Amino acid sequence: MSDSCLFCKIVSGEIQGTIVFRDDQATAFRDINPVGPTHILIVPNRHVASVNVLESDDEQLMGHLFKVAGQLANSEGIDQTGYRLITNTGPDAGQTIFHIHVHLIGGQPMKHPMG
Ligand code: 5GP
Ligand code: ZN
Repeated sequence: MSDSCLFCKIVSGEIQGTIVFRDDQATAFRDINPVGPTHILIVPNRHVASVNVLESDDEQLMGHLFKVAGQLANSEGIDQTGYRLITNTGPDAGQTIFHIHVHLIGGQPMKHPMG
């Protein structure tokens, strides 16, 4: 837990979030500013700032975030229509919260190409 981290505070319950999934490793909650009909953030319960600081021990954890994302896509009813999983890293990508997270976005056709 990082004292100043917004997502650590949502994981701990100190700040309210619309939680849609939780287990011993990960928490998922709805984005406060959704860009599509489904916009969920999947985060590790433990503070990890970004992809830049991932260690070998985090490989299982990151796979778990994707597994949870797939399950949530199914429960949101967008697994067949499609969805995007995005992890922004650093300024050029527009990362604003430095607690690693996977955006699960779907429910409408998305713009191509990316970037
Ligand atoms: P990033 O830009 O770091 O990839 O994504 C951060 C995301 O966190 C943004 O999509 C933003 O809307 C979302 N966000 C920022 N503050 C809050 C908050 O207090 N609660 C929730 N649920 N989402 C937030
Ligand atoms: Zn954190």
